[in-house]
Amino acid sequence: MIEAIQNTDADGVVDAFRTIVGEAHVLTRPADVEGYVTDWTGQYRATALAVVRPATTREVAEIVMLCNARNIAVVPQGGRTGLCGGGVPVAGRESVVVSLTRMNAVRSLDAKGRTVIAEAGVVLETLHDAALKHELVFPLVFGAKGSCTIGGNLSTNAGGSNVVRYGNTRELCLGIEAVMPDGTVINALTGLRKDNTGYDLKDLLIGAEGTLGIITAAVFKLFPAPKARTTAFLSVDSLDAALSVLNHLQDHTGGGVEAFEYMPQPALNVICKVFPAIRRPLEGTVATGILVEVASSRPNDAAEMQDGTIRLSTEVMELLGELMEEGLVLDAMVAQSEQQRTDLWKMRESILEAITEAGPAYHLDISLPLARIARFVEEMDPEMDQLGFQPLTVGHLGDGNLHYALSAAEGRDWETLPLESAKEKVFALLSELGGSFSAEHGIGQSKLPVMTKLKEPAQLEVMRAIKQALDPNNILNPGKLLPPN
Ligand SMILES: Cc1cc2nc3c(=O)[nH]c(=O)nc-3n(C[C@H](O)[C@H](O)[C@H](O)COP(=O)(O)OP(=O)(O)OC[C@H]3O[C@@H](n4cnc5c(N)ncnc54)[C@H](O)[C@@H]3O)c2cc1C
Repeated sequence: MIEAIQNTDADGVVDAFRTIVGEAHVLTRPADVEGYVTDWTGQYRATALAVVRPATTREVAEIVMLCNARNIAVVPQGGRTGLCGGGVPVAGRESVVVSLTRMNAVRSLDAKGRTVIAEAGVVLETLHDAALKHELVFPLVFGAKGSCTIGGNLSTNAGGSNVVRYGNTRELCLGIEAVMPDGTVINALTGLRKDNTGYDLKDLLIGAEGTLGIITAAVFKLFPAPKARTTAFLSVDSLDAALSVLNHLQDHTGGGVEAFEYMPQPALNVICKVFPAIRRPLEGTVATGILVEVASSRPNDAAEMQDGTIRLSTEVMELLGELMEEGLVLDAMVAQSEQQRTDLWKMRESILEAITEAGPAYHLDISLPLARIARFVEEMDPEMDQLGFQPLTVGHLGDGNLHYALSAAEGRDWETLPLESAKEKVFALLSELGGSFSAEHGIGQSKLPVMTKLKEPAQLEVMRAIKQALDPNNILNPGKLLPPN
């Protein structure tokens, strides 16, 4: 196959793609390709020779072999919900987009062994549903769950709301199958929980944003589905107090906090302004808003009490009562029905759309040691204020991740605001406090300048050596993650 391919002329490449995946799965008309070459934010767009939609690992390998032989860049793509311009081509390099969305089979689910093997194009929510049929959960959860794919989740090492309890995608993955830049297929889908047989190639490809290989399938851990859940919205005295609240809840629920999301007043305001149907969970001004969810898979915790509530809710309400007496929690709304819980999550998950809809904003995705988050926000918010920005912050507070979005303050013109100085200030304080400039969305194209500036040079050198060794022709997702030398 590879020999025949090497002999094809430039136009013949597209025909060769057609031979591999079938005519219907090679898109070349501008109107068909448009959606695949524009990213979710609308900021990144480039052209592609074609969009190729393979259905099997073998087809992916043949496409990659062909592109490697012809020095054509390959851009792996999943649900296109990435926020850093990672899943679309870059200008100046002949590229083909390889969309994995037809590889969407849940290959097998081992309910006893609590693992699942899914192909890269499986939509995250589909994996949730597959697990739930066996009273199990795949606990990676965030707003894009209805569109993003597990290939994209692995490649960005996605996080989301439940990292506080289950870890990010890396911690949920037990093995992968992938096509390397020369077309070699590696298959590590055994699902072993212990396997110390050398370098962990799965960990190399997770978070590599498609620059080292195309992930075609993965094996994941599954967990018992919660039998009881309690979801509440809290107004907490301060970010410092929020940490005490988190620890108190963890200590008294056996580590049952599944989500601990920071939603301060400015974020609530923008959500309610853009989506008037969303109701504020608490009256009045919220000091430090927290959406918290505690869950348990113990049947006892789901037992109904005399007053009709379930045991877990009663316990959480008692704990919140204690925290109120201590002055840490100022007000609380506990969801009394599945509908109220859904409404709270809908509010949380609509923030990105609300900010995007409200006007221009610069999104920073940062992380800090938990104990330093309060200092970051207390120092940075007033500085941003002074520069004319309104920070619209939300965050997965339980794991130290803040989505710090800078929008124009009331009455200020975005175009005249000193965005570069604002970024400098944020990155300087982050460095001082030992934080990271990229918590969960990855580097893509948008964070290349800060990667150059802040990533330790020695680490960058090792990354470049790995890339050079595995992909000497630089065909896999060039112009992403690794800044030019
Ligand atoms: C409303 C909204 C909320 C979000 N919330 C979160 C959140 O809470 N946490 C979070 O982590 N992210 C979040 N994101 C970002 C995004 O959803 C994640 O990065 C997601 O994992 C991307 O998956 P995808 O399938 O859309 O990947 P794409 O956007 O298609 O691609 C993302 C990157 O992965 C690479 N890639 C895709 N598939 C493969 C593959 N099979 N093999 C190799 N490389 C591949 C691409 O080349 C690209 O570099 C959010 C996005 C939106 C729009």
